[in-house]
Amino acid sequence: MHSTSTIEISISALRHNIRFLQSFLRPGVRISSVVKANAYGHGIEPFVGIAEECGIDHFSVFSLDEAYQVKKALKNHAEIMVMGWSNPKDIEWAVENGIELYVFENETLETALSAAKKSGKNAVIHLEIETGMNRTGLVDKDIRKAVAKIKANKEYFRVKGLCTHYSGAESISNYHRIQHQIRKFRQKQRLLLKAGILPEQFHTACSAASIAYPVTQMDMVRIGILQYGLWPSPETFIHFTHQQNDRSDPLKRVLSWKSSIMSIKEVKEGEFVSYGTNYLAKTDMLVAIIPTGYSHGYSRSLSNQGRVLIKGQRAGIIGLVNMNMMIADITGIDDVKIGDEVVFIGKQGDRVISVSSFTEFSDQLNYELLARLPQNIPRKIVD
Ligand SMILES: *Cc1c(COP(=O)(O)O)cnc(C)c1O
Repeated sequence: MHSTSTIEISISALRHNIRFLQSFLRPGVRISSVVKANAYGHGIEPFVGIAEECGIDHFSVFSLDEAYQVKKALKNHAEIMVMGWSNPKDIEWAVENGIELYVFENETLETALSAAKKSGKNAVIHLEIETGMNRTGLVDKDIRKAVAKIKANKEYFRVKGLCTHYSGAESISNYHRIQHQIRKFRQKQRLLLKAGILPEQFHTACSAASIAYPVTQMDMVRIGILQYGLWPSPETFIHFTHQQNDRSDPLKRVLSWKSSIMSIKEVKEGEFVSYGTNYLAKTDMLVAIIPTGYSHGYSRSLSNQGRVLIKGQRAGIIGLVNMNMMIADITGIDDVKIGDEVVFIGKQGDRVISVSSFTEFSDQLNYELLARLPQNIPRKIVD
């Protein structure tokens, strides 16, 4: 059965973005592709497949259920790391399958240790250190306990990483806080080495930190938003292009979102369109009804604000975005027919609607808009 809209993901755009990442990362820095939140709305299953084709061999997710989805989608032998919540009920599965786990509570070490003893496999862990975000991360007394536990059970643990996360590297207003975190991380690195624990790699950077604070790249970077072709913030984009003396955007958007026209109607001057009195036709108009609404992830706050592309031209959303439909003004656009393509995000002819233009109107972060795209919209891989 066909869905009322489709999300397309472009393998050539992804390949381009990965090459771009490799061009600015320091030599030897590994990329972990962050695919939490259904690969930022791109769809874990198709995205993981094309990312592997582009050479990615490490994926990061938030939770073990996502790790399970990635594992199912893998064609090769990429590694999978859980940066957030590992439900204790699933840790046995994780250890058996070599899933890498963040440890920010010592209970996780206990559970992983039992699972390792049971399965005969090492628990692969990354110690997450609190450096100033005050979210998840081991503080000094937890670190001491973790060190003791790991040393007493050396044969069951593989300490693959030491890591932390920055509290807003996409904004210069957090500059001092980030610098403090970098220093703090260095301290903890030394503390651990002194205690006789040698993590195989250090990783701290997300997309914004990789660009704004290159020292944070260390052995591996955890890249989400940039690989999808979007910037963590306008500031990060300006920071990057300023350094390059080239103001063009080096990224390509991977995702497009499209639907088609279900009905066309003439509206007389003076009539209201859709529910209530939100939109009054000031002249005779032609409008197109589109089978996508807020239940499909198109924000209601784009009522009377959003733009779509039809026949290569911009058409404004008029009236309220309904649960399943929206209405666009196609007055003056020639030859529009039922079934014609409607682009919500992406390109049509020479025109583009970017996620960022969208998010300015709806006051959502680009991250939020993507992450909220419903899982049940079909994803299609295109070149
Ligand atoms: C989401 C996340 C990232 C990736 O962030 P981007 O800004 O999308 O690159 C990196 N590290 C952690 C811990 C995260 O939660």
